[in-house]
Amino acid sequence: MFADLHLHTCFSDGTYTPQELVFHALQHGLKALAVTDHDTVEGCAPTARACAAAGLEFVSGTELTAEQDGHEIHVLGYCIDVEDPGLLARIGKFQSVRQNRIREMVARLNHLNVPLESEAVFALANCRAPGRPHVARALVKAGLCGSLDEAFERFLKKNRPAWVPKFKMSAALAIELIHEAGGLAVMAHPGLNRSDDVIPLMVEAGLDGIECFHTKHSTLMSEHYLEIADRFHLLVTGGSDCHGFSKGKPVMGGVRLHYEHFERLKTKAAERRSREP
Ligand code: AMP
Ligand code: FE
Ligand code: FE
Ligand code: ZN
Repeated sequence: MFADLHLHTCFSDGTYTPQELVFHALQHGLKALAVTDHDTVEGCAPTARACAAAGLEFVSGTELTAEQDGHEIHVLGYCIDVEDPGLLARIGKFQSVRQNRIREMVARLNHLNVPLESEAVFALANCRAPGRPHVARALVKAGLCGSLDEAFERFLKKNRPAWVPKFKMSAALAIELIHEAGGLAVMAHPGLNRSDDVIPLMVEAGLDGIECFHTKHSTLMSEHYLEIADRFHLLVTGGSDCHGFSKGKPVMGGVRLHYEHFERLKTKAAERRSREP
């Protein structure tokens, strides 16, 4: 029995609707899944309903964009209360940062005589936390770029002319937000960011787990992070980070987490909740 605890939907930069996500999860024989959209939880309720209808176990999640000591760190939150007013208010601020950043990227494109409109990006994104992939798709849709890759290469990659840096919360704040919403905080794809030196600091801030299994982790990397999980007594998680069809072929099914790891996560979340006043 397997779970995929890192999936994106059309409520962030994935292409699958909750129904499509569930369809593919069933095809891959998954028993449980978590939705971890960037800086939003909008996709959780509809995916929970789609999972319930299909007999799949669902766990609410998010992937918060953070920064620590110059490294971009993604912090996954699991078993969070997606209606928690504090969480919604605080991620709302980061969502407006993302929306303003879209306007700024479009202004830079316009300055380069690329006639894209912010409204076209917002309409296409149709979510609260839009990002560069939505700008890339809008550029392709308007016929202003031939492909998503071209959009990133010419305009959107770091230090390209329409790139705008993004204000990010600290890793410690991301962990705090997740805990306040009753969830568990997990460091996403540590092998991608090459940021092992921030792990002790995050553990200090209350980190609960580490994503050892990820599409872009080699076997060696996974083993390395399993050792780190052991050393710091962290939960072990994993997922495909599937974005649907937005980046070539879908990667769901390639990384599957053994159900026993998922059970440990659920047990810890339940213990945490039972200790709350
Ligand atoms: P943002 O959060 O707006 O900075 O956008 C980050 C998203 O853009 C992530 O999901 C990345 O996978 C995606 N991304 C970053 N660089 C590229 C690239 N060169 N080509 C395609 N997608 C990319
Ligand atoms: Fe993404
Ligand atoms: Fe990520
Ligand atoms: Zn992700």
